[in-house]
Amino acid sequence: MNYKQFKDKKISTLGLGCMRLPTVSEDRGAPIDEKKATEMIEYAYLNGINYFDTAYGYHGGESERLVGKVLKQFPRDTWYLASKMPGHMMTYKDGKLDFMGDMVGSKVESPRQIFEEQLEKCGVDYFDFYLLHNVCESSLDFYTNEELGVIDYLLEQKKAGRIKHLGFSSHGRAETIDKFLNTYDCFEFVMIQINYLDWVLQDAKSKYEVITKHGLPVLAMESCRGGSLVSLDPTAEVMLKKARPNDPIVHWAFRFLQSLPNMQVVLSGMSNMDQLIDNIALFSKNDPATEEEKALLMDVVHTMADLVPCTACRYCCDDCPQELDIPKLISMYNEASNSPSFTMSFVLSAMTENELPSACISCGNCMQMCPQGIDIPDVMRKFADILDKQAAR
Ligand code: SF4
Ligand code: SF4
Repeated sequence: MNYKQFKDKKISTLGLGCMRLPTVSEDRGAPIDEKKATEMIEYAYLNGINYFDTAYGYHGGESERLVGKVLKQFPRDTWYLASKMPGHMMTYKDGKLDFMGDMVGSKVESPRQIFEEQLEKCGVDYFDFYLLHNVCESSLDFYTNEELGVIDYLLEQKKAGRIKHLGFSSHGRAETIDKFLNTYDCFEFVMIQINYLDWVLQDAKSKYEVITKHGLPVLAMESCRGGSLVSLDPTAEVMLKKARPNDPIVHWAFRFLQSLPNMQVVLSGMSNMDQLIDNIALFSKNDPATEEEKALLMDVVHTMADLVPCTACRYCCDDCPQELDIPKLISMYNEASNSPSFTMSFVLSAMTENELPSACISCGNCMQMCPQGIDIPDVMRKFADILDKQAAR
């Protein structure tokens, strides 16, 4: 495993993201498969990964509990645990805190209550890394509300040694990140969604440059875009296979990130042991993409630029009155509008009327939750049109 220095710590360049741990079934909200997830976390640690990233909301709150439980068997100073304050899914009105989505109405009184709960769930006295979760245009007011005092509270915890390093994650625009960093000089690192496709689609390039300008290291999330960079459409695959015939397509995503000098940790939300073993092997070598290869990747992106940039985070699903599996439908839409496979008709025929994009009532609830700013009702309409046209043939 390769490591990079961060202040007084040597951190593995690959981190284990714990948002997509293996589950007992593919059903929405299915519990974590504890046996498989435990094996993966143990394997990661024993093979050199020392950065573990979880959050309050991952796996309905169970990710924090399991990751802490598994890591506890190893000496506390040999692993680094990161978790996040879930302000992106909270509201503060008339002096009252509440959650949005599924957790609306949950009893929560203060950032302190959440932080203490997280420490307890993880079974630790301190977090090595602690982040404001998704500082963006819609969560900025929450995080900067002086009466609520989230940042002041976390700085007190840092002073007390219960947070070693404070940072934030963001799906916001480069301008928002810049403004936030100009206002607050207490943050030590920033995590953004960055991969070769979002370098263009979400202007991750500007975000990376802004964070670098502020002298802070970048942590990468969605390095494979929720798995969508594991395999590409045939045109893109042919382009990459021609350049490196023996490389799996997913290696391009990681090697692109390895080529960025200010990249501290690349998080990958690995869901099975094969991915973990392969990724550890890749991050144990130093084989960053060359300038020529990065230019090729930008050519590839332009063959894929019509894709809806869904990362399958599922933030939008909780508030859908039709209970639509939105990321699944968007993924199908991307396929249907680019290069549909023959298996799509089988998938569609197995779906009920209530599960199809035509069931969307355009209420817009989902859009408020989408960190990618996707106009989901519009995608649903377009996908329903495609299916109508196919049915009319
Ligand atoms: S706009 Fe459609 S997909 Fe979005 S929450 Fe409403 S019904 Fe669900
Ligand atoms: S549509 Fe947006 S919120 Fe929903 S899964 Fe995709 S990226 Fe996440």
